[in-house]
Amino acid sequence: MAASETTVSISPSAASRVEQIFPTLSPKLRAQVAAHGKLRPTRPGEVLYDVGNASAPFFLVTEGEIELVQPSADATILLRSLRPGQFTGEINLLSGRPALVQARVSAAGKVVELDNARLLSLVQTNAELSEILMRAFILRRVELLSQGLGNVVVIGSIHCAGTLRVKEFLGRNNHPYAYMDLDQDADVQALLDRFKVGADDIPIVICRGDQVLRSPTNAQIARCLGFNDAIDQAQLRDVIIVGSGPAGLAAAVYAASEGLDVLLLESNVPGGQAGSSSKIENFFGFPTGISGHNLTSRAYVQAQKFGAKVLVASGASRLDCAHRPYTLETSDGQRLHARTIIVASGASYRKPPIAELSRFEGTGVYYAATFMEAQLVRSEPVIVIGGANSAGQAAVFLSQAASRVLILVRGDGLGDTMSRYLIRRIEENPAIEVRTHTELTALEGDSHLERVEWRNRSTGRVERHDIRHVFVMAGADPNTSWLEDCIALDAKGFIKTGVELTDGDLKDSGWPLARRPLLLESSQPGVFAIGDVRSGSIKRVASAVGEGSISVLFVHQVINE
Ligand SMILES: Cc1cc2nc3c(=O)[nH]c(=O)nc-3n(C[C@H](O)[C@H](O)[C@H](O)COP(=O)(O)OP(=O)(O)OC[C@H]3O[C@@H](n4cnc5c(N)ncnc54)[C@H](O)[C@@H]3O)c2cc1C
Repeated sequence: MAASETTVSISPSAASRVEQIFPTLSPKLRAQVAAHGKLRPTRPGEVLYDVGNASAPFFLVTEGEIELVQPSADATILLRSLRPGQFTGEINLLSGRPALVQARVSAAGKVVELDNARLLSLVQTNAELSEILMRAFILRRVELLSQGLGNVVVIGSIHCAGTLRVKEFLGRNNHPYAYMDLDQDADVQALLDRFKVGADDIPIVICRGDQVLRSPTNAQIARCLGFNDAIDQAQLRDVIIVGSGPAGLAAAVYAASEGLDVLLLESNVPGGQAGSSSKIENFFGFPTGISGHNLTSRAYVQAQKFGAKVLVASGASRLDCAHRPYTLETSDGQRLHARTIIVASGASYRKPPIAELSRFEGTGVYYAATFMEAQLVRSEPVIVIGGANSAGQAAVFLSQAASRVLILVRGDGLGDTMSRYLIRRIEENPAIEVRTHTELTALEGDSHLERVEWRNRSTGRVERHDIRHVFVMAGADPNTSWLEDCIALDAKGFIKTGVELTDGDLKDSGWPLARRPLLLESSQPGVFAIGDVRSGSIKRVASAVGEGSISVLFVHQVINE
């Protein structure tokens, strides 16, 4: 090892975990890998792939030694030496995204080399190797994440919404980064002041060591890191899935695993609403709950394992319904083509403009009031925000579990927005109090919401109370504005499908076929809607996943039509 090098040790001391991260394949498994690739000699010092190389190949060492390193201007970090039977690669090998480490030969020998397509075919067809490789790839990424060993530095403040967005974008893309907090590090702040970096420029993102981005958009970061570079955007796909929440991810997993050519398009970050849920307690098969990020990032890797391509920070902006195959225009000016489209763009809950709201989502701020949330309330006071029926139903329901329910409405009453029967129930319920002309202004707490502040808009009076649960029942808007001119929507903008479509809807959309729309099919043939975006859907992770899986059956049917 050269003098300027440092070595990073894999944190878990347990030998078994290190063996899972850097396993040594048995002679039988080495032979199975070799059957898919080509054996070739290596020279000392040869760089097999470098940081930033897209679609880097996979290498199995059969003789000699390879080092995985992170080169930098002042010190090269040696991550691991690989010996015969060990192999290169981590999650980026599946997506074709640029490599985060360099692989170089430290002792001459031989390697078996597999390109991206051969590696995918190997993990899809060989269950034993798939398990070993997938586990190693995921654990290696976890190590890079935990040690911040990426090619990105974020400089920001946790009190700045832009910093939280950038951290969420990198985190939900599982991209490792180092973070410097301006509030903690006076030297960095002084440096930025000297370079005239103002508050509007925060966060600063230093990307790949050579680009300095000031308050970048997610799309700019994705471009700089080459997230979408390996994807052929001109290719005609069997199916384009719009939205990578649970519905879109499930559709991608099933469609790709059944041999369809799948492109998944995500305007923001993979995971959707579910990805922001700190713990999903009611998803089938996870008795102790699972964080939304864990659930959806596993599905994200799974979809890529089966060959689905994922474009991030690139949203659908228009669907051209007039011609088939369909053309989908994206926010970054691309035109994508597909035989069928699955719309899984979900809904956005209306959120009051309160700083810190998203920080307490799942830990004091909720968008649903079901039996599960009621259990969290445990005889404490709660706030319900909103004046429509969903807020009224939530208040009545929560009054059985909470010590007191306060409904905060900005207007002067509930009469214009809530059904009369609910208003009467609220009036007759001593546990419920309605505060009119009132808006929530602040949330406080550490790991859980502890206190709230509200303001009376008429008198200006501000009050602070120790309340730990806020239910936001301000409604949800479907993400369908990009579809308005070609698909039948219901009165609230959700997509109508199957038997819900009337003859009038089909006539207005120019439905060309003798048959009626299939289950989950919209008013355009081969355009399906699943999950929260679909009119009448149950707003749950499990139902979104279920609809994603069954929609693929209908995609096959339409493609073969
Ligand atoms: C904080 C929170 C906690 C929750 N907890 C639970 C729970 O415990 N249990 C439960 O069952 N449900 C829960 N839910 C509800 C559940 O998350 C949703 O029902 C589920 O995520 C819906 O999945 P979806 O894929 O249909 O849509 P979404 O999750 O909304 O995903 C839609 C995706 O589409 C993307 N998108 C939107 N427009 C475009 C476009 N034009 N182009 C490309 N992409 C686009 C979005 O960025 C998003 O990633 C929770 C919701 C929230 C907000």
